[in-house]
Amino acid sequence: MIKYVYNFNEGKASMKDLLGGKGANLAEMSNIGLPVPPGFTITTEACNEYYIKGATLWPELIEQINKSVFGLEEKTGKQFGGSINPLLISVRSGAKFSMPGMMDTILNLGLNDMTVGVLAKNAETPRFAYDSYRRFIQMFSDVVMGIEKYKFDKIFDSIKRENKVEFDTDLSNENLMKIVLEFKELYRREMHTSFPQDPNEQLILAIKAVFKSWNNERAIIYRQLNQIPDSLGTAVNIQSMVFGNMGNDCGTGVAFTRNPATGEKKLYGEFLMNAQGEDVVAGIRTPYDIDKLSEISKAVYDEFCEIAQLLEDHYKDMQDIEFTIEKGKLFMLQTRNGKRTAAAAIRVAVELVEEGKITKEEAVMRIEPNQLDQLLHPAFVKEALEKGEVIAKGLPASPGAASGKVYFSAADTIKAAKSGEKVILVRQETSPEDIEGMVSSQGILTARGGMTSHAAVVARGMGKCCVAGCEEVKVKEEDKMFTAGNRIFKEGDYISLDGSTGIVYEGVIETQEPELSGYFATLMSWADDFRKLKIRTNADTPKDAAQAIKFGAEGIGLCRTEHMFFDEKRLPAVREMIISETLGERTKALDKLLPMQREDFIGIFEAMGERPVTIRLLDPPLHEFLPTEDEDIEQLSKDMNISFNILKSRIAQLKELNPMLGHRGCRLAITYPEIAVMQVRAIIEAAAHVKKNMKINVHPEIMIPLVGDVKELIYIKQIVEKTVDEVIMDTGIEVEYLYGTMIELPRAALIADEIAKEAEFFSFGTNDLTQMTYGISRDDAFKFLKDYKQKKIWKTDPFQILDRKAVGQLIKMSVELGRRTRPDIKLGICGEHGGEPSSVEFCHMLGLNYVSCSPFRVPIARLAAAQAAVRLP
Ligand code: ADP
Ligand code: MG
Ligand code: MG
Repeated sequence: MIKYVYNFNEGKASMKDLLGGKGANLAEMSNIGLPVPPGFTITTEACNEYYIKGATLWPELIEQINKSVFGLEEKTGKQFGGSINPLLISVRSGAKFSMPGMMDTILNLGLNDMTVGVLAKNAETPRFAYDSYRRFIQMFSDVVMGIEKYKFDKIFDSIKRENKVEFDTDLSNENLMKIVLEFKELYRREMHTSFPQDPNEQLILAIKAVFKSWNNERAIIYRQLNQIPDSLGTAVNIQSMVFGNMGNDCGTGVAFTRNPATGEKKLYGEFLMNAQGEDVVAGIRTPYDIDKLSEISKAVYDEFCEIAQLLEDHYKDMQDIEFTIEKGKLFMLQTRNGKRTAAAAIRVAVELVEEGKITKEEAVMRIEPNQLDQLLHPAFVKEALEKGEVIAKGLPASPGAASGKVYFSAADTIKAAKSGEKVILVRQETSPEDIEGMVSSQGILTARGGMTSHAAVVARGMGKCCVAGCEEVKVKEEDKMFTAGNRIFKEGDYISLDGSTGIVYEGVIETQEPELSGYFATLMSWADDFRKLKIRTNADTPKDAAQAIKFGAEGIGLCRTEHMFFDEKRLPAVREMIISETLGERTKALDKLLPMQREDFIGIFEAMGERPVTIRLLDPPLHEFLPTEDEDIEQLSKDMNISFNILKSRIAQLKELNPMLGHRGCRLAITYPEIAVMQVRAIIEAAAHVKKNMKINVHPEIMIPLVGDVKELIYIKQIVEKTVDEVIMDTGIEVEYLYGTMIELPRAALIADEIAKEAEFFSFGTNDLTQMTYGISRDDAFKFLKDYKQKKIWKTDPFQILDRKAVGQLIKMSVELGRRTRPDIKLGICGEHGGEPSSVEFCHMLGLNYVSCSPFRVPIARLAAAQAAVRLP
């Protein structure tokens, strides 16, 4: 026989899988002798079984439940549905991971027209019986029968008004009886049957409703947001009621053992006297600060403080505690590790170490790496957000808080920003040409594109707030406006973007600067001691590089030279180079680019000092640098002084059906070696310059993209070596560099041993490697990814979380093959995955030398790498 029901004395904290968090902790609290009303838990397995059986409860389960109800009757000396001393119970949801407010709970179950009378007769204050009954009818009707709450509130409020009563607690017994009558009437009207009087029937219906609440819409969304598997199911906790609504020596409240916003070590909480359940959070009366409890009852307050401390010591973490006081006696109803901001999480962890309660390793493991994001960007003031007017919701593509006037083109954004305005760039979708507009903006809102779309990747790279794929927003760029529902926003209107939730607000929302406090630095220094992976950054400018160093980067893992090419001042020369028909013309254009590119590298080398800098030679297909619209082509043809038709045909020549699989990567250097020559020259001249003038021994690493055949590497190597030799001859300065490649084609992974003969390092370009392995385009995948997730074909987006199975297999193979040829080969990863904790863990497992990620993810990668090292030493 499978055991589906556990009494509190049979469970413990470690049984969260089976009993859910609430049930496991209720059991734990009872077993360490705290005052917990007796009860039992129906397992999460029963919930899953309930769904398998087509949403029904089966005899074996009902039998076990009945047995435990009987046990409860014995323990409390009360009877469920009894006419002498009736037992009332709460029926509470509770999954393995707490999902606050997402599922349902029913209080005061067991009340009916008979038991309410008995309860009233037995009590000193009869009104509490009817107060409990009206609560029960409303909760049961709402949760179990789906009758909307507001219909009950309407009756309740009108009776309050009739009797000129301000607070619920001022309602008399007679008022409450009347409310109960009208509630039952409402129930009959809605359900065409009377309110169920049989407590056993009530119980079965309530249990089913709690199971069902596992799949209500908000629970599903919450799980998606928090990556909680749908398969876990919820437990149901059945517990004898204690009453906070029996009079003025009763109450109910919630408290955190430390401040969940700041982490400060001080009891933080609220309570209400003569109240029950959700009254505290429902805002019916303003609750009191927990400190005030000491004025009302010093003894209860002291006992509560003592228990709170005991619970914190027991769980070795900040606790979120629910309690009720019945006639001056304290009862504990729930405890769990409290949810907290990143700032609080760090402070609590560091202080628990200082207090000798946990180890440094435990502290490092406590912080959710992704949560650090909150600390690195200016943040909205929480209260201001809650009051904000929501316009739409998109994908939280790049965290941050941005407010500003909307503009609809890069050019307008740049102009407005130059005149000192704060701008939100709103686009249907962004293209590389928008990059400067993105730089000038506070944040970016796009109607199309996914989490790894161009806008998102670039925004994250810049640490710029971005909401992408916001389909509710209809952008009409030519009319300089967008609509959301029936609202219209025109150029110059203010909006705010919350990049961590994807929510778009009307108007300006107040922000505050991030503080990288001493606690943060302390925790990160512990993380650095534990981790084995080095952390580099993907940076294309000295500014990004400097930012990344502040966040702890130990080198550049990917410097994309094309981002320099997109610069407004360089684009003409770049375009000239592309349009050139002859080598002579092209060389002339490249000569213009050389000094600019050299300056870029000097800046980066200066910023990075002796840290290694991996520079990738030009990668994207050339047509990306050219306009597509006739109007723009016309303009360019004038600027370049060539005929429209020649320009247009050249652009047509460069157009490709599958640019991602096209003339790009090392293929460019093979067709146009002179581009590689210019870039290598710029790199080595810059290195020589910095070495000579700044006395910095720089460490450039020249990286060849999109290699699939070792002969490509051999061909380009000879160009690189010749160019380096020339520069050394010219300058008389010796520069050391490494020559290596990206592994981003499956073919390269399969022959990594051969490739390693020529490459001194591999950098796994997991964006392309994922794209090429799956055969999906990362710019378009978002269109069907939703369906894949919904139909449970893919759990996660492989562009976000590295696919260990196949892409990971290719990486693993490359590592082994590469080391076979060249044991000291340097190995790193530079795809977007380099800053994603589970992917970082995988890199640790493979023994890579480093991961590289955007500057704003460097702290996240540092922490994730430390956690991987602690978890898998
Ligand atoms: P949630 O998960 O939404 O917090 P709970 O199951 O914890 O839901 O119930 C909410 C509140 O109901 C509790 O904080 C407590 O105030 C009240 N409650 C639950 N069970 C009991 C009980 N046995 N006696 C008195 N109050 C209870
Ligand atoms: Mg609760
Ligand atoms: Mg690539």
